[in-house]
Amino acid sequence: MGKAILFFPCHTGAHVREHGFLLFGFFCKPHIFMYFTTQYYSSMRIYIYGEKVLADTAQPVGVITSELCSLLNEMVLFMRDKHGVGLASPQIGVSQRFFVMDAGGKVRKVINPEILSFGNSTAEMEEGCLSLPGISMRVRRSKRIAVRYQNETGETVREELKDYPARVFQHEFDHLNGILFVDRIAQIARRMVIRDLERLAKKTEEVKYEAARL
Ligand SMILES: [Zn+2]
Repeated sequence: MGKAILFFPCHTGAHVREHGFLLFGFFCKPHIFMYFTTQYYSSMRIYIYGEKVLADTAQPVGVITSELCSLLNEMVLFMRDKHGVGLASPQIGVSQRFFVMDAGGKVRKVINPEILSFGNSTAEMEEGCLSLPGISMRVRRSKRIAVRYQNETGETVREELKDYPARVFQHEFDHLNGILFVDRIAQIARRMVIRDLERLAKKTEEVKYEAARL
């Protein structure tokens, strides 16, 4: 028997996930060297402002399959890797009504969400978005909402959310309707980030053009 050697491109799981593969090599005989590549993340990436899927209305989820549950698990890991507190399906290029969020000390996997009611009081807070890198703005949202959604086991969950979890839920819910936080700010404030938005959209076009050439 030859000796087995494991090769990792880097020590950290984060780096491995970033590159989407693990590289394994081992000796089965002293002079025969074999490599295997294993897909770790299903080449998940963040879709950036300017990509059509972010502006689309996502479609309801019919059956909650084991594939969807795996995807939700991967999204939670991916979101943490990117230091996000929420990640909606259009942000990974999937136009279906689900998202994950990690706010208020609880991870939620949210499928077919509805916002049943909005409280009267609102608050402003600085928001960012993984799909709008480098941009953050104060956004006014309801402080309290009542929501209903299905979790990954298909159970219907009803919750009253307030403050930060309510904000994150509203932000992610917006993604499913093709709405980004920059669509929620006043025209005058939007003018301050219009250059950044144009820059992102231009960069996205360039990336798509380069990809199309490959
Ligand atoms: Zn976002």
